[in-house]
Formats: sequence, structure tokens, C-alpha cells
Amino acid sequence: MAFQKDLFAQQHVLVTGATQGIGAGVANYLASLGARVTAVGLDRGDGSLSAGVRVVLADVSDPESTQRVFDDIDSLDALVNCAGIIRRGAEHQVEVFEKVVSVNLTGTMRMCTASRALLKVSRGAIVNMASMLSFFGGAMVPGYAASKGGVAQLTKSLALAYAGDKIRVNAVAPGWIATPLTQALQDDPARSKPILSRTPLGRWGTPEDVAGCVAFLCSPAAAFMTGVILPVDGGYLVA
Ligand code: NAP
Repeated sequence: MAFQKDLFAQQHVLVTGATQGIGAGVANYLASLGARVTAVGLDRGDGSLSAGVRVVLADVSDPESTQRVFDDIDSLDALVNCAGIIRRGAEHQVEVFEKVVSVNLTGTMRMCTASRALLKVSRGAIVNMASMLSFFGGAMVPGYAASKGGVAQLTKSLALAYAGDKIRVNAVAPGWIATPLTQALQDDPARSKPILSRTPLGRWGTPEDVAGCVAFLCSPAAAFMTGVILPVDGGYLVA
């Protein structure tokens, strides 16, 4: 355990896309540091969430569904936006492109907007999920890359817009993390080999690798950080 066990005691954290993958790793890790965690996802996920984490089913691409998440929330200390989809090979169809952007980018904006008043009270923090594709293009995933480039710019813009409310807004940019989203890549040696050979630390990342950095950005140790896009990539970006 890299942090004090009660780092987030008495704090309420909302994590979207938390029913599996990185979001579940973040939810479990923050709960292990004392946070009361509400996890948002489309369904109950793959059972990787800790018992103490409350699950609320909602679709971040749907305004009414998102608003219902806040019906019984009266305090919030941090929002972590992990909900995301990728549709490799299909994103040149404009409807698919639009869907990916509406979950990854507009969904993030929607959650930030809906959380702002509560986070103003707590002087809280937001952590968004950027990506290596915030920096690079992706021929097979124009919607995903556009959405993640947008998440980086949204993060910087909201950092400026919310600074007066003392809300910090940062993002992590995970490299290649072993989750259901990357299962097809992990399973295909022709695609996983170049990923691993370009990653100086020589392995796939884990949801826990990302969760530690999210915890840092939510914590008082990052009190003077806002508008940062923090790579968590085993060195992929500088290789
Ligand atoms: P994942 O395993 O596929 O999990 C995605 C999560 O998002 C699931 O909990 C899913 O819920 C939820 N979700 C999808 N659409 C949603 C919607 N419309 N409303 C609410 N929740 C929704 O993906 P992951 O790898 O953990 O990725 C998490 C985030 O990190 C994403 O933003 C992704 O782009 C980003 N990221 C991942 C990697 C990587 O290598 N894995 C790298 C960079 C960035 P259900 O399970 O209920 O459908």
C-alpha cells in the first residue's frame, strides 16, 4: 500500500465506468484507502468490484440517466471519469464515431458539469481518462482518438474554468493496460508484440498501476496540480 490507509476517510468518490477494468481498479483502490465509493456502469460488470462499493447503473451518454445518478448524492469529494468505449475498425462509420465521442468525451463533460456544484462545496478534484491516443492518431479508431484528444483539451479547459471554485481538474493518460477493452490486442501476438517491445518497462500495465496515480491526483499531495495530463504508460510515450 503506497498511501496511508485512511487517506480518503470520510470522502465520497464517484467513479464512472467502474464495473470492470481500470474503473473497477480505481474504485477498489480508493475504497481500500477509506473512501465511500459510488461506481457507475451500464451493467453489474464482471464481479471485480469490492463488496463495499455501491453500484449505480447509468449511461453517461444519456442526459436523464446521468442526472439520476445524482438524485441521492448530497456530497462529493472527487469524480473519476473512466467510462469509455472503443470500436476498432467501425469508427469510420459516422454513427459509430458519434457514439464513441458521446460516451468518451461528451459523457465526461456531462459528468463534470453535473458534479461541479457538489465539488465546489468540498473543493474537490476531477480525474479524467485520457490515452496515448490523446497524443497519437489511430487509423482504425478515429472516433476514439478524437474523443481522447478532446478529453485532454477538455481537462485543460475545465481546469481553468473551475479553478475559481478551487476544483482541480487533471487527467491520466494510460498506456497499454490489460483490461477487457484491450483483450483482443492482448490475445493477438502480432499486435501485442510491438506494444510490448515499445514499452520500456516491458509489460502490460494493470488497473492498479493507473489507480495509484488517480489516488495521487485526488489527494492533497497534488494540491497545486491542475490541468495536467499525466502519462501512466511504462515509458511508451518517450520511447
Ligand atoms: P473496459 O474494461 O471496457 O471498461 C469500460 C467501463 O466503462 C465499463 O465499466 C463499462 O461499463 C463502462 N461504460 C462503457 N460505456 C458506458 C456508458 N455509456 N455509461 C456508463 N459506463 C459505461 O475499459 P478500460 O480499459 O477499463 O478503460 C477505462 C477507461 O480508460 C476508458 O475511458 C478507456 O478509454 C481508458 N483507457 C484504457 C486504456 C487501456 O489500455 N485499457 C488505455 C488508455 C485509456 P459496463 O461494463 O457496465 O459496460
